[in-house]
Amino acid sequence: MNKEISSPRRTKEILEKHGFSFKKSLGQNFLVDANVLEKIVAAANVTDSTGIIEIGPGFGALTEKLAQKANKVVAFEIDGRLIPILKENLSDYKNIALIHQDVLKANIHAVIEKEFQKEQDLMVVANLPYYATTPILLKLLEDKLPIRGIVCMIQKEVAERISAEPGTKDYGSLTIAVQYYAQAETAFTVPGNVFVPKPNVDSAVLKLHMLKEPSVQVIDEKLFFEVVRASFAQRRKTILNNLAKNLNVPIAKADLQVMLTDLEIEPSRRGETLSIKEFAFLANAVHRRLK
Ligand code: SAM
Repeated sequence: MNKEISSPRRTKEILEKHGFSFKKSLGQNFLVDANVLEKIVAAANVTDSTGIIEIGPGFGALTEKLAQKANKVVAFEIDGRLIPILKENLSDYKNIALIHQDVLKANIHAVIEKEFQKEQDLMVVANLPYYATTPILLKLLEDKLPIRGIVCMIQKEVAERISAEPGTKDYGSLTIAVQYYAQAETAFTVPGNVFVPKPNVDSAVLKLHMLKEPSVQVIDEKLFFEVVRASFAQRRKTILNNLAKNLNVPIAKADLQVMLTDLEIEPSRRGETLSIKEFAFLANAVHRRLK
C-alpha cells in the first residue's frame, strides 16, 4: 500500500505529479498531519458500522483515515480537478464513493437513501472550506438529515461563536441557529502549520451532537429565527429597540414592550443576554399576537 496521503512528503509528491495548484476561492487548505486527522476520526466515534458523509475530500487525507475505520465514506467534492487524483490516491479502498458536486446544491437525503442502509449510524465529518462554513453547516442542520452528528474543522472564531453561552460576546444568531438543532462543543484547537497552504486564521474542531427534538419548542420556526435575527441586528441596542426597528412583523413598539414585560424579559436587556428558551417564549408570544 502507498504511504499515507496525509504525510507532508506524499502530499508534495501528489502536488508535483499532477501539477496541482490550490484554489484559495475554494478554501483549499489540506491537512498534512496524521495525528490531527486521527483525532478528528476519534472525535466522531466511528465504528465499522458507521456511514460517513465527507465534504471536500481534497487529496483524500481524511477520507483515507475514515475509510480505514468506517463502513462506508461518501464524499462530496466541488473541484473536478481533484476527482481523478482522489480515484488514484484512494484506489486501495473499496468503501468510498465520490460525488463531484457542490454540497450546497446537493440533495443529501437522496444520496443517503442511495448510498447507505436504512437506519445506519451516520456522521458528517469534514475539514470544511472556510469560505462556506456557515452555509454548509446551516444546510446540514436545516435539511434535518438522519445523522448522529457532525465533526468538522472550521475557523476557531466560528467554532467559538457556535458553542458560545448567553451573555458572552461570541453568542449570537449563529449560536442559536446551531444550538436549536444540536448540542455543540469545541473538541480541540489546531495550529495553522498542520495545513498546506497554511491558513491565516486559527482552526478548531467543532463537534455537534444532533438532538432528537429541537432544543426548544416553537410554534413557527421561521418566525423564531426572524425574532432571533432582529434581536441581534444591532448588537448594542436593547432587545426592545432591535425588535421595534428590525422585526418584519406588524407589531407596535408599545405592544412589544408589554409582551416582553409579561414574559419577564426586561426590555432594556440586550439580545445577547437572552437564552434560547427566552427567544422561544418571545417568538411564541409574537406568534399568538399575530394570529
Ligand atoms: N479534506 C481535505 C483535507 O483535510 O486535506 C481538504 C479540505 S479543504 C479545507 C476543503 C475542500 O472542500 C477542498 O477540497 C475544496 O475543493 C472542497 N470544497 C470547497 N467548496 C465545496 C463545496 N461547496 N462542496 C464540496 N466541496 C467543496
